[in-house]
Amino acid sequence: MNPYNPFSLTHFAATIADVCAVERPKQAQPPLDWAVALLKAYCKDGFDRVFLHNADAVGMWLCKAYPQLLEPVRKHTLLTIPFQAVMPSVTPVCFGSMYTGANPEIHGIQKYEKPVIQIDTLFDAFIRAGKRVAIVSTQTASMSNIFLQRPVDIYNCPSEGAIVEKAQELILQDTYDLLCVYTYMYDTMDHRHGPQAPESIAALANQGQIFDSLVSTIERNWTGHNTLIGFAPDHGVHSTPEDSNLLGNHGTDSPLDLNILHYFGVVCGKNIGSKF
Ligand SMILES: [Zn+2]
Repeated sequence: MNPYNPFSLTHFAATIADVCAVERPKQAQPPLDWAVALLKAYCKDGFDRVFLHNADAVGMWLCKAYPQLLEPVRKHTLLTIPFQAVMPSVTPVCFGSMYTGANPEIHGIQKYEKPVIQIDTLFDAFIRAGKRVAIVSTQTASMSNIFLQRPVDIYNCPSEGAIVEKAQELILQDTYDLLCVYTYMYDTMDHRHGPQAPESIAALANQGQIFDSLVSTIERNWTGHNTLIGFAPDHGVHSTPEDSNLLGNHGTDSPLDLNILHYFGVVCGKNIGSKF
């Protein structure tokens, strides 16, 4: 049996663009048409907003090993897409492919480095469509650096708690059409303690709680909008007990590192006649 997930992460950007009727990033791989059709069917007026929670390093095997910890994500979502991250499976390379829809040799980040991506991104496509875009992250993170030099508002916060607080504030202010929230504590704890250490599992549980709390705020407050919501990690993890300095890692072509699940849902506020 092929142990790898069937859909390359390079289909993510055009899928989101098509669901929102926004032009695809110029070098993006094609969308997953079945996912676009399914999601669009839930909001007949179309989507005018997107909320994405980019939880670093939450691999598919963790979702299977700890299903109860993902329940706060599942309860808000309708569709799970089994994506395969790109190689090398490290953060800037994977987020680069997610948001450009292009393979690493096209977007230019092929190792752990954080240059500004020069090719077209989903953020640029949303901005061209007149939409306001924000990323909530932390200063040294890939998400705060590789998408600079375009009119995206990047909020750098000193901790994961502060990221969540800022995201809550931005949702209440109701000013962004595409809001990406990057959280990193599972990745940090994994490297430090290993993928299944108690500290890491506590951080994993918190990822589900963060998604639940932010989406609940959207459900209560973005009532005049139709919002596509997504829990969208970048890559997975594997255990490296032989290396005492780094008990968990990623970057290889193991299915543990490459297989990820993205969960999508809809919050329809505009049309009472929708399925929700
Ligand atoms: Zn990562």
